Amino acid sequence: MSNLLVMKFGGTSMGSAERIGVAAKISAEQHAMRPVVIVVSAMSKVTDLLLDSLRKAEAGDQADLDRNLKTLFTRHFDCCRALLPPARQEAALAGIHRLISEFSRIAKGCMMLGDRPPRSTDEAVAIGEKLSALLMAEYLESQGVRARAVSGEDLIATDAVFGNATPLMEQTRHRCDSVAAPLLADRVLPVVTGFNGSTLDGRPTTLGRGGSDFSASILAAALDASELWIWTDVDGIMTGDPRLIPDARVLDEITYSEAAELAYAGAKVLHPRTLAPLIERQIPVWSKNSFAPEKPGTRIVAQLGREVAGGPHAVTSMAEVALVAIEPANAGVSGTRLMAEALEALDAAGVELLAITSSSYRQSFCFLVRQSELKAALEHMQEIFALELTHGYVKPIQVDSNVGLIAVVGEGMRGTPGLAGRIFTAISRHNINIIAIAQGSSELTIAIVVRREGLERAVRAVHEECGLGCLVP
Ligand code: ADP
Ligand code: ASP
Ligand code: MG
Repeated sequence: MSNLLVMKFGGTSMGSAERIGVAAKISAEQHAMRPVVIVVSAMSKVTDLLLDSLRKAEAGDQADLDRNLKTLFTRHFDCCRALLPPARQEAALAGIHRLISEFSRIAKGCMMLGDRPPRSTDEAVAIGEKLSALLMAEYLESQGVRARAVSGEDLIATDAVFGNATPLMEQTRHRCDSVAAPLLADRVLPVVTGFNGSTLDGRPTTLGRGGSDFSASILAAALDASELWIWTDVDGIMTGDPRLIPDARVLDEITYSEAAELAYAGAKVLHPRTLAPLIERQIPVWSKNSFAPEKPGTRIVAQLGREVAGGPHAVTSMAEVALVAIEPANAGVSGTRLMAEALEALDAAGVELLAITSSSYRQSFCFLVRQSELKAALEHMQEIFALELTHGYVKPIQVDSNVGLIAVVGEGMRGTPGLAGRIFTAISRHNINIIAIAQGSSELTIAIVVRREGLERAVRAVHEECGLGCLVP
């Protein structure tokens, strides 16, 4: 749709009546000028609370579940009272009651089963976003903006991988054409729940933690938007995680590839899969701060508008990772074949490889995965190499969980000689052991695995060595 703007407001941008008020004002201003769709996250920490409640239910812990439900209700009740004019509160409170009862019904089911089936979990956690969308739509209406809360389930079609679903773009386009387009044509502002979708037969799914960014990009692509703005709580995408690197600087512009590499390697500011749907149509993205809307933010584009400066653009890190090493026991076993089988099994298990390195002489290889996916990765390795392990053709699989990943990213790293050497020297100067190194042929990212206890120091050292901070001229 021509000139359509999709905007996403994250958890902190939806975290209180005051924040919702600001997000609504931003939305109304844009809506006055052009068609707008907004995508909202649950209020900050609500998804954690919902997941914790389901864990309590599974464990049969009624008292803690009740306490969580009370917190959930109070948070939204208080927000509703502070946000909405009295005449609108009753209807909104009835909606809040209905959604929390729905959640509580699913939690009770988990308690009876002593289990948290992924399908029920997805249906239950999506309620966080439904609560915030309801409040936002009611508030916009109270401000004279015609708005409608729409569930992501009615717009985003996905596969049935509960907890980490993948969109089916063609079907999503059909759903958007029949549900969102008529609202837009009628000048109604759709307030879409982030994070959730549904399978083709209507079962609710979610898109992975932090998935509202992904929801927004899926909708921007499906609706052919001209721009996507992602509103968060920092001034844009920075040269490093500001919680780890006090002098991290906001980048004015980065490419889709750089942003995707950063997100995959742990930069929480974007969900890793956000950019993929936008690349084909080259829809530009802005990362902006809802606490300082006047600041320009970071523009994410296919190609930088200026000449690429040599060297990296940003550095990021990931702490919750594990390194898995596989080694043939003798020269008669082909390491290449083992690697091919391992990669195929990991792919089938939906485990994402963060880095992989191999040694050609010993034919051994190791790969890095998220801690949360380690169990599945190991189960699959044990299964496919069962015969080789039993007969001693493959050495016992080694796992090292005391590691962390650093990724140094930048288009300007291509063909810049000496950079890797400087980065490794900066890390070793701090007596931090480098365990593995990987660099893709695109030369966009250098991934370095270090001992976990040195991770934060190593990230700061690399940031400083590369002159990324604001203190450096
Ligand atoms: P939202 O709730 O708006 O989706 P998130 O908490 O998911 O926000 O992401 C924003 C946070 O990401 C920031 O507060 C910041 O601490 C963190 N972050 C990590 N790496 C970066 C980076 N390179 N640039 C900006 N923020 C980053
Ligand atoms: N509320 C979801 C989460 O916390 C999705 C999001 O905020 O992007 O993971
Ligand atoms: Mg986020």
